[in-house]
Amino acid sequence: MGVFDLINGEGYEQVVHFSDPQSGLKAIIAIHSTELGPALGGTRCYPYETEEEALVDVLRLAKGMTYKAAAAGLDLGGGKAVIIGDPQRIKSEELLRAYGRFVETLGGRYITAADVGTVLSDMDTVRRESRWVTGCSHTYGGSGDPSPVTAFGVLQGMKASALEVFGDASLKDRTVAVQGVGKVGFALCGYLVAEGAKVTIGDINLDNLARAVSTHGVETTRLDDIHKMEADIFAPCALGGGINDDTINEFNCKIIAGAANNVLARPEHGDKLRDLGILYAPDFVINAGGLINVEDELRGYDRERAMQKVTGIYKAMQLIYGLAKERGISTAQAAEEYAESRIRKISRIRLVRTSSYGPSSNN
Ligand code: NAD
Repeated sequence: MGVFDLINGEGYEQVVHFSDPQSGLKAIIAIHSTELGPALGGTRCYPYETEEEALVDVLRLAKGMTYKAAAAGLDLGGGKAVIIGDPQRIKSEELLRAYGRFVETLGGRYITAADVGTVLSDMDTVRRESRWVTGCSHTYGGSGDPSPVTAFGVLQGMKASALEVFGDASLKDRTVAVQGVGKVGFALCGYLVAEGAKVTIGDINLDNLARAVSTHGVETTRLDDIHKMEADIFAPCALGGGINDDTINEFNCKIIAGAANNVLARPEHGDKLRDLGILYAPDFVINAGGLINVEDELRGYDRERAMQKVTGIYKAMQLIYGLAKERGISTAQAAEEYAESRIRKISRIRLVRTSSYGPSSNN
């Protein structure tokens, strides 16, 4: 399939390839939509085997950002960037600044942030060449690492889910199985323990496992068993695709609510969870805390205001659960419809133009 077929089929606005042979930079920025505002999404640095693989990934991720921003009620569109290469080997000041120059050429249609393979300090470097960067260090007026805020948002989504299933939003004494205790999962464990939940964790990284146990006093289980555990809530906080043909019949929980992106390997898995009587908290709604947090930087970051906005995930989740029931569809589908409906409604409003000539001089 050619590049134009990939782009046109899904209505992408713009896809730009950048290369700077001296620094080794090869990057693609995909802008899926700016209907609601500038396209904000992170920069992923990854050793893609082929350029086509990088393109497919950046397109998929950019579209996901459109839906995430729309469902979170933000005035943002969706975009994403990939830098092709092993982050351990290729990242340098020269490369990141070259990348910053390229981001700047888009004039704010695309705003970047950190993602897999890029970190806070990389964004500080990119910022030296471009205004269109979020998720920088506090010293640059940035919001710092978004992960704890993402975790706080997941907590809100879990509470709304508990209300839906148990008729009580409290997580006290609820059993929660957390898969992956990296940046988000670790912070989530802290919130859950503070709420009085009984937390069990699983992770392939033994250091991360030990850190969560010693800090939060949580239990551990065998890695293969974490998603099969009998629990009120299963929280996927590792990689995407965890709900797939192999695992879908193995869950032993009432709710699936976690931070991981693209949790469902295929959309049909959302319907299957519904048939199984498991409430699925759609990933791009429940994990929007990090995006909401960096968006706040665009108006001068205020932590309290950002956290307040993140509590809105509770309400968004309730709206989606209501829509799913009303329409007899899966929560995954309801989330997509909710996002699409907001894009339709608000982009129409934004087409209403104010006069570009200023007040009439005939008065
Ligand atoms: P991270 O890399 O810090 O943590 C991931 C953890 O999962 C690591 O501890 C890793 O060892 C573990 N892991 C990997 N494979 C595993 C497996 N098969 N079983 C169990 N554990 C496994 O990443 P993160 O920033 O905490 O993000 C976690 C997820 O949330 C990702 O899917 C990410 O895309 C998504 N997400 C993160 C943010 C954010 O603010 N960081 C925002 C939105 C979505």
